[in-house]
Amino acid sequence: GGLLDRLKLDSGGLRLENPIVRAVNGVSFSIGRGEIMALVGESGCGKSTVAKTIARIYKPTVGEIHVDGEDIAGHGFAEMLPVRAKMQMIFQDPYASLNPRQKVRDIVAEPLLEQAKTAAERKAVPAQIEKLLARVGLNAEHAGRFPHQFSGGQRQRIGIARALSVTPGLIVADEPVSALDVSIQAQILNLMKDLRDEFGLAYLFISHDLSVVHHIADRVGVMYLGFMVENAPRDVLFARPRHPYTRALLSAAPSIKPKRSSEEIVLSGEVPSALDLPTGCCFRTRCPFAWDRCARERPALQDVDDGQTVACHLTDEPERDRP
Ligand code: SF4
Ligand code: MG
Repeated sequence: GGLLDRLKLDSGGLRLENPIVRAVNGVSFSIGRGEIMALVGESGCGKSTVAKTIARIYKPTVGEIHVDGEDIAGHGFAEMLPVRAKMQMIFQDPYASLNPRQKVRDIVAEPLLEQAKTAAERKAVPAQIEKLLARVGLNAEHAGRFPHQFSGGQRQRIGIARALSVTPGLIVADEPVSALDVSIQAQILNLMKDLRDEFGLAYLFISHDLSVVHHIADRVGVMYLGFMVENAPRDVLFARPRHPYTRALLSAAPSIKPKRSSEEIVLSGEVPSALDLPTGCCFRTRCPFAWDRCARERPALQDVDDGQTVACHLTDEPERDRP
């Protein structure tokens, strides 16, 4: 299986061929084998763009995407074929991502048939589909039905079976439970975790919902305006958020906010336009701690400790951190 060894989308900005896509400016991380890495942030922060770029739905013109030792950033369609055996994607709205005219067996078979090299491999596909459907909580009878005959949660199970079919090392999941009822969300999250344990899968898990991220992630990257501002193990991030934006996000999440109210930050103001980025720190127009250095100098991600990295000048000058 494969995994994301290194993603570096920060050399002068990720420029995408599709101009309607919001730019990503400073994102660099890796995902280990079997690791669940979440990217979290408000709508428009670039987290979906990062996911779709890694899955190479978007083609970056600057940057590196190393999957299992291979830089796929410039790959064409044919070069991506073997990569898709290592990396698959599941989407927010399984109804939109599943072909409505295809039966479930054909939907799930597609990646397998794409990878099959011999007649014997193609012949084995129907039996594999039966096993896959059973593994995600569906049954053989479901194979002959169409996507519209399923509930949202079942449709996401179909999407998961399809992604799982080629036993990838990495699944890129863009808001996979956001469209589902809370009770169904937990079932799908637990299924995804079980599959990680069983197959050693890694996920890049995109979500705007901190309680979902808290439930599933091993590591969390926080994004704001196309930049990664903090990246830390889940328990470290939720216990000791360092970046003022992370602290504001946690303060706004009632079930998981910091216990000490002195750590709370209430955000005011609007997210600036990505087309007109602030100089220096991307967060300075909304940050209660901003000082002149923040306008002059863009903070780089720096290691703090316990695997936590933070892009904030307070890391160098902690004595300023007094509201
Ligand atoms: Fe706030 Fe300055 Fe840190 Fe940016 S660098 S988050 S403006 S204190
Ligand atoms: Mg999105």
